[in-house]
Amino acid sequence: QRAADLAAAITPCRTTDHVAVAVYANLGALKEAAPAIANGAEGCGLLRTEFLFLERHEPPGEDEQAREYQAIADALQGRPLAIRTLDIGGDKPIPYLPMPREDNPALGLRGLRTSLWKPELLRTQLRAILRVKPASACRILLPMVTDIEDLVTVRALLDECAKDLGIDATPALGVMIETPASAMLADQLAVHADFFSIGTNDLSQYTLAMDRGHPELAAKLDALHPAVLRLIDTISQAAHEAGREVAVCGGLASDPAAVPILVGLGIREISVVPAMIPRLKATIRTLDAQRCAELAERALTLGTATAVRQMMEAGR
Ligand code: PEP
Ligand code: MG
Repeated sequence: QRAADLAAAITPCRTTDHVAVAVYANLGALKEAAPAIANGAEGCGLLRTEFLFLERHEPPGEDEQAREYQAIADALQGRPLAIRTLDIGGDKPIPYLPMPREDNPALGLRGLRTSLWKPELLRTQLRAILRVKPASACRILLPMVTDIEDLVTVRALLDECAKDLGIDATPALGVMIETPASAMLADQLAVHADFFSIGTNDLSQYTLAMDRGHPELAAKLDALHPAVLRLIDTISQAAHEAGREVAVCGGLASDPAAVPILVGLGIREISVVPAMIPRLKATIRTLDAQRCAELAERALTLGTATAVRQMMEAGR
């Protein structure tokens, strides 16, 4: 039985009507990579690089970063690796990056905004990522994008770094869609971005105007809220129309009750907590994509996350 479980975990995953859904791992450290592969990850859909930058007195240099990213790429043995640039804000103070005090850190300098505020940090990180081999397995993911011009600025910086390093082809450059602004402008972002990854943790925080760390609101902050689902629908449609890949890497993708709806909304890639991969693959293998589309369509007409969850419980 264990051998059969293992075989099921490592084979690609299809619905009963043969729709392939790729399952990647979210990683936040080198030591998580090998267990994720053992659990059946088809690669890494989100490497949170903050682990390299926190709890130290100076930022990691280009060589150190290149070594760390390469070690993770090696552990993935040629499978895809999406490296997210630093996603840090005033809520996580680091000694070498003193931030102005902010009344609302979630609305302040964070994600890509911080990187563009300190472009030398971004340049170092981009150069380190460009050095990873095989380059074809590597992708770059930008967090907290709200402004198309920011993406254009990073693209120019990436091209400049590649030229300096004598590299001809740059890796795919994608954006996290995790604000209502980027969701609503997904069609225009698709002109400049090579791929999308939907961060449902922040997308629901900003859509529902609920702090994702607030203990009193935790039970109410549910990414299955129809307002969030409508945005995911908008993003998915924009991506498909533009011929761009779109993944979901936020916590919603690790929720077995939500996966049928994501598949129904046209999502064909998820990136999840590594320990959940076998269970999520088993769930996907029981799904019928046509039926998922019907469930998703119905979910979009409902008024609350509770109603969506009740529909899922009743319908399955
Ligand atoms: C998200 O916001 O959904 C996401 C994946 O990014 P993080 O949780 O690191 O903010
Ligand atoms: Mg996020």
